Amino acid sequence: MLNHTQCHEVLEAETLESGVKGLQDIIDKIEQDDAHKLYCSQCHQAITSLKNKTHIQGQFLHERINPAGFQFLIGCFHQSLGCDVAGQTSMEYTWFDGFHWQQCQCSQCEQAMGWYFSRYNQHFYALIMRHLACK
Ligand SMILES: [Zn+2]
Repeated sequence: MLNHTQCHEVLEAETLESGVKGLQDIIDKIEQDDAHKLYCSQCHQAITSLKNKTHIQGQFLHERINPAGFQFLIGCFHQSLGCDVAGQTSMEYTWFDGFHWQQCQCSQCEQAMGWYFSRYNQHFYALIMRHLACK
């Protein structure tokens, strides 16, 4: 099982470049941890769990910068029951080729949680790691 120290290392990495490598090492170790839920950092509603991790373009974690210059460390999940998908579908500045995106937010407190990407019959949630907590 993933212990809380490891979970915090995953979720609280602030320095992205060094963080991603360290995070990937941890994630590789915890690949089979089904039960570990991840919560909204603001209201602590369950958002998803580590068993929903998915690899997009070969990896779980991605660093991205939006057009406003904000940098995000996002993790990809194939399901996120605690998120509401909101707003219009857009292809503008999409971070994943061929995917449309919509914003998604915590269904309880409405904190921005990341983006829902979809194309054809494929979809995933790209969640902002710093907005997830392990309780
Ligand atoms: Zn919330």
